[in-house]
Amino acid sequence: MARIVMKFGGTSVADLDRIHNVARHVKREVDAGHEVAVVVSAMSGKTNELVGWVQNMPKVAGSNAPFYDAREYDAIVASGEQVTSGLLAIALQSMGINARSWQGWQIPIRTDNAHGAARILDIEGAEIIRRMGEGQVAVVAGFQGLGPDNRLATLGRGGSDTSAVAIAAAVKADRCDIYTDVDGVYTTDPRIEPKARRLKKIAFEEMLEMASLGAKVLQVRSVELAMVHKVRTFVRSSFEDPDAPGMGDLLNPPGTLICDEEEIVEQEVVTGIAYAKDEAQISLRRLSDRPGVSAAIFGPLAEAHINVDMIVQNISEDGSKTDMTFTVPSGDVDKALRVLGDNKDKIGYDVIQSEAGLVKVSVIGIGMRSHAGVAASAFRALADKGINIKAITTSEIKISILIDGPYAELAVRTLHSAYGLDKS
Ligand code: ADP
Ligand code: ASP
Ligand code: MG
Repeated sequence: MARIVMKFGGTSVADLDRIHNVARHVKREVDAGHEVAVVVSAMSGKTNELVGWVQNMPKVAGSNAPFYDAREYDAIVASGEQVTSGLLAIALQSMGINARSWQGWQIPIRTDNAHGAARILDIEGAEIIRRMGEGQVAVVAGFQGLGPDNRLATLGRGGSDTSAVAIAAAVKADRCDIYTDVDGVYTTDPRIEPKARRLKKIAFEEMLEMASLGAKVLQVRSVELAMVHKVRTFVRSSFEDPDAPGMGDLLNPPGTLICDEEEIVEQEVVTGIAYAKDEAQISLRRLSDRPGVSAAIFGPLAEAHINVDMIVQNISEDGSKTDMTFTVPSGDVDKALRVLGDNKDKIGYDVIQSEAGLVKVSVIGIGMRSHAGVAASAFRALADKGINIKAITTSEIKISILIDGPYAELAVRTLHSAYGLDKS
């Protein structure tokens, strides 16, 4: 007997037939004698629809600020998961399985106060554990918890992955299975590169980079939690026949295991390629080159919660001053320009320029630590395809390259084949 947390994403619960199919996956594990808790997302497209409704509501009278009350945003967008948790509980009951739905506040899953992007602080696992011991399946609404203000709080887009791993840690599950519409983690997004290969295992650090650099197959925070709490996490498909041979394998289920790097025997130099669309670049021209300039730029941006990513500083054209270029998400450009405009006197720049619609393509692999020349191969491969590089950042295990949006797919495929990832 094992204790298993099973998470099903939006496409896996997109309609009643699929919810019934999910119930068959759950039944397989229950019939094998395991204790099971399930985490569900909203039906695919539902959260987008709810977010759209919020964004289309009238703004506060007299204000043209593009903000709405984050607590009410949470009350609205959390509702999609409430529906699927109830539906799955009913589907399980119809198969003779003792099941009960749980909203975040009922467990409770306690979060901080950052409405819309809350972090889980603590989960009361005792009641769920007790009921699992009695053979009841807990069907938990993902993506939501209870804030310190006693209100619903959501965990940021893709947050049901994090709900699942956090619950797995809280109930000390033997395994957390993230069921989705692909059968594992691939060397790159299989929708962009059909030659992408499924990885049997990927190290936590690499998965963390892949997720933060755009591979949305897992939310970043879920990987962090899996790493810290040593949750044995698999990414696998809900679209396979629930009763196909091997689907119920306890130690080696089909899919990709996210694990410690020591568990990976044949480590490649490069493990995967990720990309993030909708990046924008902002340049401040002719800044004076003195201590405190960076602080004057990035301090106010941080206070406005704008996530600055790649930063490049170089000598301005006439050689007497400096230019600062950095990237922010496209959606934050207007806000960033406003903040920088408000602080123009303190910063002291001549002109400000911006360009949206850029893409960041990243090469990731733990093997880079001990191999030279990995970055040079990327630059050569992109140059051969005539793709211009606008900015570069590197860390021990990744290289990120900023390029023009229309080249995204070509760049991903080019790098994927440059490192031989399309060859088994
Ligand atoms: P869910 O609704 O189940 O949470 P998501 O849409 O959030 O599913 O994540 C699954 C998607 O992630 C896949 O359909 C795939 O297009 C995308 N993806 C991006 N990069 C990768 C990758 N390296 N491996 C697998 N899937 C990836
Ligand atoms: N339904 C939420 C979203 O679309 C959470 C999730 O699916 O993980 O972001
Ligand atoms: Mg997801």
